[in-house]
Amino acid sequence: MNLWGLFKNLQIYVKPYKWLVFLTLLLTLVGSFMAQVNAIVLDKTIDAINALIGVEDFAWGMAARILTIISIVLLGKEILAALITFAQQYFGERMRILISRDLAQAAIEKMLTFRMAFFSRDDNETGKLQTRIDQGVGSLSRTVQNFFIDLLPLFTSAILALILMFLANVYVGLVALCIVPVYFIITYRQARKLKGWRRDMRTYREAKSHGIMSIIESINVIKSFNRERIEGDKQLDIQNQVTSNQMQTRKISFYYNAVKTFVKQVGTVLVIILTAYLVLIDYPGMTIGKIMYHVLLFGNVVAPITQLQRIFDDMNDALIYAEGFFSILNSDDEVESSGTYRSEKILGNFELSHVDFTYPNGTKALRDVNMKIESGKITAFVGLSGAGKSTIVNLLDKFYEPECGTILLDGVPLQEYDTQFLRENIGIVLQKNHIFDGTIEENILYGNPQASHDEVVEAAKKAYIYEQIMALPHTFQSKANQLSGGQQQRIAIARMFLKNPPIIFLDEPTASLDAIATEQIKNSIDAIKQDRTVIIISHSISQIIDADMIYALKEGHVEQSGNPDEIYKKGGIYKEIIDASARSLNIEKIVNTIS
Ligand code: ADP
Repeated sequence: MNLWGLFKNLQIYVKPYKWLVFLTLLLTLVGSFMAQVNAIVLDKTIDAINALIGVEDFAWGMAARILTIISIVLLGKEILAALITFAQQYFGERMRILISRDLAQAAIEKMLTFRMAFFSRDDNETGKLQTRIDQGVGSLSRTVQNFFIDLLPLFTSAILALILMFLANVYVGLVALCIVPVYFIITYRQARKLKGWRRDMRTYREAKSHGIMSIIESINVIKSFNRERIEGDKQLDIQNQVTSNQMQTRKISFYYNAVKTFVKQVGTVLVIILTAYLVLIDYPGMTIGKIMYHVLLFGNVVAPITQLQRIFDDMNDALIYAEGFFSILNSDDEVESSGTYRSEKILGNFELSHVDFTYPNGTKALRDVNMKIESGKITAFVGLSGAGKSTIVNLLDKFYEPECGTILLDGVPLQEYDTQFLRENIGIVLQKNHIFDGTIEENILYGNPQASHDEVVEAAKKAYIYEQIMALPHTFQSKANQLSGGQQQRIAIARMFLKNPPIIFLDEPTASLDAIATEQIKNSIDAIKQDRTVIIISHSISQIIDADMIYALKEGHVEQSGNPDEIYKKGGIYKEIIDASARSLNIEKIVNTIS
């Protein structure tokens, strides 16, 4: 992305604040005029005092009058300048803060509309996406700030100062003008030298924060294996790289800063010599006051250029980060597609024919899948890990679209359904439960935000979690993420009961539950299967053999299907899995123990 593209993309976010922009610009202009006042006042003062010195009937009254006027003008100007600087910074900062809020919110809202495939791509992993948004917002809002708070006032002031120098004397103006490109060249070289180091620095920073995060995440593994030393040493390597990089960037900066200071001094000396010379030869309009006048104006001319390098760096960062950031905001092709079909009532009969599916990373997860899933029955997907069971559920919920083949729901192609309507009619309980930061009540209410407290209580009872919630110090107002894995699972089940949808997908719903809770949940799932479509993915033998219909999958393909007893008798993958489960449960011994 180039600078033009960056500003074009930013434009719509700046537009709502056009009054703020206008105000900031106006203040900038006034501030730039004020910046020249010192030079003008000193010019006049020196000339006035100089004139007084030569006068024979020198009177203190006259000198006092001049000094009073100077004091009033300078102090008045300082007060006004302070007010203007305050207002200009305040409005500029306000604009930056509001724009960064809008940018972050726009990215989040856009991201929420994206299809699942977007999130499962390698370059969109959680941490990476977050970094991209954070850094994008940070550097873009800094660009706005650089432009309106730093760059614009300085450059306006520089241009004004240069004009005043030219108006006073063309030769002095030319000297000042010649120094500017020298400064530019030095700054440009500095920015180019630093660019690679800054880029490396970014990588090291990411590695550093990633390192710290992974230590915290795996602290129990690190400790149990006594690997503190190794982990510490890994971090030391990164720290050392960061340190040497920092040293190098500082060294380069200090060197170029010294060169720039020298060039500035040379410029100042040239301006003094030239002005002094012009005064001495009595050049028209050149008085002794002009020496100070020109020196101060020259200071204003070079002031922004000293800042240029930092702004250069920020701009470079902004260009790099803006690309990633706007790729989120502008990727309309990632937005989830939706049909418009909404039926009176969803019955919940699915039919899959010749469905193939490949994940965005290239994993072929389903091959020629054919299924009939009927309402009022429990359909179980059986198969080893990675067989494609969860993938089918992903397709039925329209999280992904099949590569080829068709999926019908109540005879209508799934892609024709309004996605929101479809999902209102589907309840999912996953292996890993998604408990949000909030209270237990809020988490259950996620299933139906309009539900009353009594309905929440009812749902909790059905999910066999009510008593445990009531035993907590803050009952339904307790933090949900402090519950155990099994309890969180039942909160998710309660949420589904509250939603009360005609289609239910359960992906290993009892995987992290104890035996008693498993039995209770099994009972409540049995109770709700009437007039609903229940699809269950489970390794639990008790749930599988209770199903009305089994689909046994292997490597993305349906190997066997039918009634549990029938397909067991036929032998094959289903029998293998059931036999292995029975052996792992040590059923014979259990029977002996309990008989
Ligand atoms: P199961 O539910 O039977 O354990 P899955 O449906 O989760 O199996 O996975 C089927 C295949 O698809 C596996 O090879 C798995 O690695 C792959 N897979 C699952 N989810 C994703 C994903 N989000 N991105 C890429 N590959 C995936």
